[in-house]
Amino acid sequence: MPQSDFSFTVGSRLRDTGSATTDDGGEFLGRTGTISTPHGEIQTPAFIAVGTKATVKAVLPESMKELGAQALLANAYHLYLQPGPDIVDAAGGLGKFMNWAGPTFTDSGGFQVMSLGSGFKKVIDMVNVDQSGADDRVAPGKERLAHIDDDGVWFKSHLDGSKHRFTPEVSLQIQHQLGADVMFAFDELTTLHNSRGYQQEALERTRLWAERCIAEHRRLTEVREAKPYQALFGVIQGAQYEDQRRKASRDLGGMEIDGMQFDGFGLGGALEKENLGTIVRWCCEELPEAKPKHLLGISEPDDIFVAIENGADTFDCVSPTRVARNSAFYTPFGRKNLSNAQYKRDFGPLMDGCDCYTCTHYSRAYIHHLFKAKEMLSATLISIHNERFVVKLVDDARRSIDDGSFFEFKAETLANYYPA
Ligand SMILES: [Zn+2]
Repeated sequence: MPQSDFSFTVGSRLRDTGSATTDDGGEFLGRTGTISTPHGEIQTPAFIAVGTKATVKAVLPESMKELGAQALLANAYHLYLQPGPDIVDAAGGLGKFMNWAGPTFTDSGGFQVMSLGSGFKKVIDMVNVDQSGADDRVAPGKERLAHIDDDGVWFKSHLDGSKHRFTPEVSLQIQHQLGADVMFAFDELTTLHNSRGYQQEALERTRLWAERCIAEHRRLTEVREAKPYQALFGVIQGAQYEDQRRKASRDLGGMEIDGMQFDGFGLGGALEKENLGTIVRWCCEELPEAKPKHLLGISEPDDIFVAIENGADTFDCVSPTRVARNSAFYTPFGRKNLSNAQYKRDFGPLMDGCDCYTCTHYSRAYIHHLFKAKEMLSATLISIHNERFVVKLVDDARRSIDDGSFFEFKAETLANYYPA
């Protein structure tokens, strides 16, 4: 199938419907749009639910569809190790394998492979900024499990310690076998702990890898021409540095190998929460306006607004199911914890007015009981509610861009969610 089976059209623009400008006088780049894939359309801005190992933890794909999820994102590293991309390919691709008829994304595996190297989780990088420039820092008690060279990365499996190698070509081969509608180029993940010099070196490696990703993608698209077209997004790195982010965006935005370009872009890497919006805007100002942008891995409702207004069209987030397994649920008045004794005899829904399956059928008291009794159903029920909460929040944000009320909607939502 041809590259034209993937497309993006812009709907309304925030600058035409909203009145505010950014703190430094810049222009907001948020917009609505439609991504068309061989497995259906995605109305943007859209929240892409995470199903790392080809399952949204504890939730049936049917439930994800019912709660309004438009697309799911799985991870190439995890599916490469288990069950293996050849099995997913033989099943007819990721969507068929997991019984999800809609659009799917896979990330390149780079983040997982390289975060093995430092032993740091992204959230720790985000809060623990150290400008000392320790490029070889490893978390206490952790062994370095990944080694990067100009050609690729050696790493050890977190499952059995076996040794593996990812290169841009290997990542694309795996992602083509997984068969998702949107794939990401293999990039080098840096952390905020790395020095500016190292960031620059890594960025150049990522640029050269991006060229190899397009070349391999082009080859595989021809070899597998009977399969639905899979779009490839280039990934913009550059940490917190404006010059590096802008350069990476121009380099990848204009990159063309044998007539083929990236279909869209992922905004990746270590991002300090307070600079999230600014960094997204630097990238989106330089990247081609007509192509979709995906912000990789955000965590909280305030991040969603900042991502949207600065030009991210889609973003993924593991939080709804991750916090659900610890009995935390979202409400318009912030995140609450259902394990608290106050919910023992509370026969109301998790959230008044919520239209999700959990809130229309079950009480806080019942789910509190399930969690205390260590019953798996508690994670399922809270996850359904949390996923619906975020999906609806983004749906409402999209409508508010169309009708010109985005900034009022944002102010009201955040004032309730994070009371002063
Ligand atoms: Zn609900």
